[in-house]
Amino acid sequence: MTPPNEQAVGIDLGTTYSAVAHLDPSGRPVTLVNAEGDLITPSVVLFEGTSVIVGKEARKAIATDANQVADCAKRDLGSRVYHKLLEGRQYPPEAVAGFILNKLRLDAERQIGQFKKVVITVPAYFDEVRRKSTQDAGYMAGFEVLDIINEPTAAAVAYGFQKGFLDETGSAREAQNVLVYDLGGGTFDVTVMRLEGSDFRTLATDGDVQLGGRDWDTRLIDFVAEDFIRRHSLDPREDPNAAGRLWRECEDAKRTLSARQRANIACDYKGQAARVEITREKFQEITHDLLDRTRFTVRQTLLAAGLEWDDIDRVLLVGGSTRMPMVSDMLRELSGKIADNSVAADEAVAHGAALQAGLALARAAGRKGRFHIENVNSHSLGVVATDPQTQRKRNACVIPRNTPLPVNAKRQFKTQKQNQKTILVQIVEGESKMPDECLQIGKCVVRDLPPDLPPGTPIDVRFRYEENGRLTIVVTVGNNGTELRHEITRDNTLTQGQLDRWRKYIAGTAVS
Ligand code: AMP
Repeated sequence: MTPPNEQAVGIDLGTTYSAVAHLDPSGRPVTLVNAEGDLITPSVVLFEGTSVIVGKEARKAIATDANQVADCAKRDLGSRVYHKLLEGRQYPPEAVAGFILNKLRLDAERQIGQFKKVVITVPAYFDEVRRKSTQDAGYMAGFEVLDIINEPTAAAVAYGFQKGFLDETGSAREAQNVLVYDLGGGTFDVTVMRLEGSDFRTLATDGDVQLGGRDWDTRLIDFVAEDFIRRHSLDPREDPNAAGRLWRECEDAKRTLSARQRANIACDYKGQAARVEITREKFQEITHDLLDRTRFTVRQTLLAAGLEWDDIDRVLLVGGSTRMPMVSDMLRELSGKIADNSVAADEAVAHGAALQAGLALARAAGRKGRFHIENVNSHSLGVVATDPQTQRKRNACVIPRNTPLPVNAKRQFKTQKQNQKTILVQIVEGESKMPDECLQIGKCVVRDLPPDLPPGTPIDVRFRYEENGRLTIVVTVGNNGTELRHEITRDNTLTQGQLDRWRKYIAGTAVS
């Protein structure tokens, strides 16, 4: 049992919706309802003068005050600023996410009292920079982020819990290979995991951080807008509020099409109105390329895991968008298996995060955890090196993707000049040989090299890729192994001072 006030809380910070869960006294994950009484909270923020409104009310304002509303901020994590001005102000995407997390915290505290420690989930395919931004958003919201874990892993843990993999005799269960297909509002992940007793081992992961239910909405919006243009020579997408209203109608119609064969979408703009009917078949036709992208990724991931469909015991569906019948139809056709939607699509990820929070708290208190997760990295990590033959810069891979974590890798650099004082290591993430085509994580500047080093002195740079996909670096001078001071200067991330100011600002803002 965790000490009093040490609540095990997990947060699924989704692109379109978020959810919070905690472990009840018996250790069972339970979703906490928000102040409005809902299990999920729209990840939408409305800025209104000095007050900030998060959730359902903010989502409604997309139809009337679109210029004051921030949605899908998760898609912008890793960029310096959120993609649009809000009441004339620029916000870092972490701060927008920070406001969402702050509302989730305040609502949860009404039920379980004050707490600080949380586990937040991220798409498996999130790169290092986006992971850091997620941690920073948690910090800004007043949390101590115990860990960040991958959404499909969290869902598999929740599934394992539900199926009794995690009870005292967990190891009695037969091992299973599970393919998790996670299609949320803004991101897509596929992960192949092996569940064996209380061990959850990721074999391979892949995905797309710019693909989700929102893209299916956009196709419907375009379909209706083009119809509207034909009828009235007017484009409702030109005006942010009209576009916002149309988006809400389309998202609604999309949900209807998950249950029925046809839906109607109303659109009004500049005094003209139209009602457009769409069938499920037409919807599938105008979105089939999006679904095909997920099909391709599923195949690739299975290949990377070194498995065939016969080796997969279960295809697990996670994320609200997997309610679209086209998803399970495609997976059945591809795998010959009926996909399993037995975990609650909206809650499973938060439940898995709460179980992981319980594990982290137990470990911190010196107790053994109930389960063990082994993760892999979703992107290769490398450094920029000069090819001695061509003298061109290239990405020298240090840790290939799908390597089990944590992993340590070493790369040796040599000083070039007599009495060299610093060494600059540029770190990149991605699969391309060309550094420009990879994500620049930042630079590691090694300072204070010992005096009078001759040219060619070896300097060892050790990369440690943590289980949560975060990177730490240790630098030593070749032979005697003295650890050197270094700084990772990250591109597009905030300084500690900026984070502290945002933390104070968010805490002081009237959030409702
Ligand atoms: P998540 O981020 O997992 O909460 O997923 C949210 C996404 O699921 C949004 O794009 C929703 O529009 C979508 N979604 C939720 N319910 C349904 C449904 N019944 N049919 C189709 N899409 C849905």
